[in-house]
Amino acid sequence: MSDQPNNTQLAVIGGGPGGYAAAFLAADLGMQVVLIDPEANPGGVCLYRGCIPSKALLHVAKVLNESREATHWGIEFSEPKVKLEKLRAWKEGVVQRLTGGLGQLSKQRRVRYLRGEASFVDARNLKIKKLDGSEEELSFQNAIVATGSRPAALPGITLASPRILDSTTALDIQDIPKTMLVVGGGYIGLELGTVYLTLGTQVSVVEMMPGLLPGADRDLVTPLAKRLEGSFQSIMLNTKVVEMQEQQEGVRVKFAGPELAAPEGVFEKVLVAVGRKPNSQVPGLDKTKVELDQRGFIKVNLQRQTTEPTIYAVGDVAGEPMLAHKATHEGRVAVEAIAGHRVAFEPRAIPAVVFTDPEIAWCGLTEEQARQEKRPVKVVRFPWAASGRALTLDRPDGVTKLIIDPETECVLGVGITGSGAGELIAEGVLAVEMAASAMDVALTIHPHPTLSETVMEAAEVFFGNATDLYRPKK
Ligand code: FAD
Ligand code: NAD
Repeated sequence: MSDQPNNTQLAVIGGGPGGYAAAFLAADLGMQVVLIDPEANPGGVCLYRGCIPSKALLHVAKVLNESREATHWGIEFSEPKVKLEKLRAWKEGVVQRLTGGLGQLSKQRRVRYLRGEASFVDARNLKIKKLDGSEEELSFQNAIVATGSRPAALPGITLASPRILDSTTALDIQDIPKTMLVVGGGYIGLELGTVYLTLGTQVSVVEMMPGLLPGADRDLVTPLAKRLEGSFQSIMLNTKVVEMQEQQEGVRVKFAGPELAAPEGVFEKVLVAVGRKPNSQVPGLDKTKVELDQRGFIKVNLQRQTTEPTIYAVGDVAGEPMLAHKATHEGRVAVEAIAGHRVAFEPRAIPAVVFTDPEIAWCGLTEEQARQEKRPVKVVRFPWAASGRALTLDRPDGVTKLIIDPETECVLGVGITGSGAGELIAEGVLAVEMAASAMDVALTIHPHPTLSETVMEAAEVFFGNATDLYRPKK
């Protein structure tokens, strides 16, 4: 028997960025909170097998690349030696430190953290199967479902083999294969493809759409695609994998598509990164009035309340974009709504960052979206070849663009490709959220020499008077 009360004001199912942010805010607002997740500490996919370990490895990739490129600047390093065990331990150390910190924060806030898996009994009660095998029943006034997502499988192809990786097993870096096929030229394929490439693997990418990162504006993707064309073994666009067979020397993969360079190939490892599926099949959820949409996401309103009034849903399980910062903000909105505050999740801009080399980042309205919606916009670009800071970094392969409303001159969207674009985009998010005008951005004094000046100078391009670029107003 447990000496803990078997009821709570708020039960949060899933300890990822949506779940722990919700649990922590609820505790800060004075609610009694139980947070349930199978891991030792909160963190979810993002901390244990997503954002954090991948970015730790991408940092290492950046250092390796810079050490190799230093010959351009008259500095010769010998070829770096990679000690895989130490690299893994360092990456795991980062994860342990962060998740351990979240465990501490839960205790400090008196959030009751239950290690286990939750299932619904009905719209007021949960059953929790704890890690030690025991079960606990918990009744709640409100619950937040923040169960996240899992890797999607390749349709029609089932091959269980240690040679076939998903993002989780790829992040383990058990070895550095000689060759790797990445199926899916999206976020994960390009980020983890970059990691393996830098560690010494010959990486090939197969993408079913006509371009890499199909969701991003083409002019943002072009500088990255150019660099990857020079470093990846091959990039097969408009191509699908139709068959995979394990052989002694690797996986034989057959391709189909209108412009095949080769009909098949053999690869030591294959990383499947063709999207993610929401974890909406929470046991017992069907005993409530919670509804799913056609793609399996839990249906929610602006407060992130589901069609069952006591139950809310946030993060990857509640719809796209499947990004950690979106999950966190939704978690906070759901809690505020439960606390009775007047809130809605209505962002003008959710930033997206692909942590490749160069990075790609965008927020708000994209040029492609404006075209599809037949919305008149003015697009201005500042090429990084005109940025002093980009040249000091030897990285002129970037662009900063603004999507501007031609009538109000407000900044509706921002796109950046280049080294550090993921940090720079925050200024764009602020500009879009605050409805800054191009003049506001142009008149804001930016420090010199920095890459942030490219945002200011892109706004100056709108007025035809950018200091470092001759582009008279048409
Ligand atoms: P999750 O983080 O998925 O957490 C859900 C938790 O719920 C999990 O711990 C799961 O075990 C638990 N759970 C599931 N079912 C139950 C149950 N029945 N009972 C109890 N617990 C349950 N996003 C970014 O913004 N930036 C990045 O750089 C980035 N990099 C990524 C890299 C990779 C390789 C991957 C895979 C993803 C990356 N993402 C990134 C996406 C990001 O990880 C997700 O958007 C984010 O984790 C979603 O948060 P969440 O709270 O919805 O759920
Ligand atoms: P993704 O949607 O970014 O990319 C999947 C790619 O696979 C797409 O380009 C798609 O056209 C392609 N594809 C789908 N089926 C295919 C097939 N049969 N053959 C060839 N190509 C195929 O998905 P992902 O890379 O798996 O990542 C999942 C999600 O995780 C992302 O959408 C994102 O929300 C999140 N994520 C974010 C970050 C970040 O913020 N930096 C990093 C990693 C993951």
